Amino acid sequence: MSVRVRYAPSPTGSPHVGNIRDALFKHYFAKHHGGVNILRIEDTDRTRYIPGVEEEIVDSLNWLGIEFQEGFGVGGDHGPYRQSERKEAGIYAREIQKLLESGHAYKAFDTSEELAEMREFQQINKQPIGYYGGVWRDATPAMVEQAEREGKPMVIRLRIPRNDTIVIHDAIRGRIEWDSNTVDDPVLIKSDGMPTYHFAAMVDDHLMGITHIMRGEEWISSAPKHAVLFDAFGWERPVFVHCPVINGKDGKKLSKRHGDTKCLDYRAAGYLPRALKNFIALIGWAPGGDRELMTDAEIAEAFDLDGLQPAPGVFDLEKLRWMNGWYIRSLELESLRSEVAAFVERGEWREYFGRPTDDPELLKKNQATLAGLETLALGLSGDREYAGAAIALEQERVATLADFGEATAFFFQDEPPMDEKAVAKWLTVPHARDLFESLISFLEGPAPSGPGADGHDGACPSRGVKVEECEAFIRGYGEKMGLEKMGPVVHPVRVALTGKTVGPGLFELMSLLGPSRMVRRLRRLL
Ligand code: GLU
Repeated sequence: MSVRVRYAPSPTGSPHVGNIRDALFKHYFAKHHGGVNILRIEDTDRTRYIPGVEEEIVDSLNWLGIEFQEGFGVGGDHGPYRQSERKEAGIYAREIQKLLESGHAYKAFDTSEELAEMREFQQINKQPIGYYGGVWRDATPAMVEQAEREGKPMVIRLRIPRNDTIVIHDAIRGRIEWDSNTVDDPVLIKSDGMPTYHFAAMVDDHLMGITHIMRGEEWISSAPKHAVLFDAFGWERPVFVHCPVINGKDGKKLSKRHGDTKCLDYRAAGYLPRALKNFIALIGWAPGGDRELMTDAEIAEAFDLDGLQPAPGVFDLEKLRWMNGWYIRSLELESLRSEVAAFVERGEWREYFGRPTDDPELLKKNQATLAGLETLALGLSGDREYAGAAIALEQERVATLADFGEATAFFFQDEPPMDEKAVAKWLTVPHARDLFESLISFLEGPAPSGPGADGHDGACPSRGVKVEECEAFIRGYGEKMGLEKMGPVVHPVRVALTGKTVGPGLFELMSLLGPSRMVRRLRRLL
């Protein structure tokens, strides 16, 4: 049996982590088995339809490289792949007819007042809430004809067998059973003629030859209805695979509070698709052993149902940041530069970090990120080679592409802002003046060796300064002071040049800044 699975989003909101996990599991499961992953758009709930979301779904999936061999936007032999079009094509009308004729479905003409009364009665009498029959389940053909003649609004419901046990065999949870008297008769066709999720999804799953219904655990309670529906048609049931819920680190259901946001926000915030994919694949699935950092191919190779856990998966934003940093560090310099440049150019970060927030800390952080990225954008539009070298120097130190803004800003600013504490601690040392004056004469003296380490000489076209030369100067000065450790030399110079106490290697950043920038900054301080 060749595996066929489907990702079936409803265009009612941009995909979040849970949706993407759903899509990703199918991507890997199909890949693992050399099967087919199908993209189907479930847009029958017109009241919740949001225009533009379909595009966001496709954009998210493309960005992450989630592959479909068939479906919406791809094509295939089982189209159309959008349910509203399938409805227009008469597919659901044809299929519901079969169930009406076999008696597995029935027309129900209850008014909304009658349904409300039924619910109230059930509540008062502590009965299960739902439609378990009422008048219409056992209505005579004459009653139905008359109601139709009167033009009463009507839905079509599934006749769940009573006094029975409904059993499914879930691939993760094993046997699950329900007393059929606790399963109500679901609506299959709504009064506006639209199929419900229960009906459209199951009909399509059958017609599209789906072998595994993989979906979130929140659908377990619908599974008995779906099983009955398959049986009513006399169709073979697919395997049910209900994937674990996703919780935050505090054990509560994943929400915005835990950092859950739409997939495209992760792009705007500077995450790499391969990091996000790797991270999300491990929420509720374990490859065995303690493997964590895995390529797409490695995950596909390892991904099977036995690695899926019934216990909730945990979403840990800190882990995502760590993973993203790891992926950034593992990029070749050339790819790193183009990733950062593409990120900055895309400009989605402006909206993302510019969102209003009540949290003053976050607001400050976001403003700093925005300012840094604007500086980097300007830098990239100028001397691209210099900007590329600055990015390369910060590769080891960032967790997201957005971090590159603040991290590299001092390379581009004429007067980098000064960290007050750093100034108080390191620019007040007694030897600061002499140190900076010596550095200036060294930088303005005869070129010891021509252009700087990477051939770049900053703003001074006549000469650069090599990494080793910078190191030799700092060490030489330290020795002159009789120092064993270079801190009292390194820190004042770093603060003078960058405004901060932390950053990339001092000698490398000096070489990249080049003599004229350094001299300008030192003179300003003096
Ligand atoms: N359209 C449903 C949703 O977006 C799909 C559920 C399923 O995979 O069966 O939640």
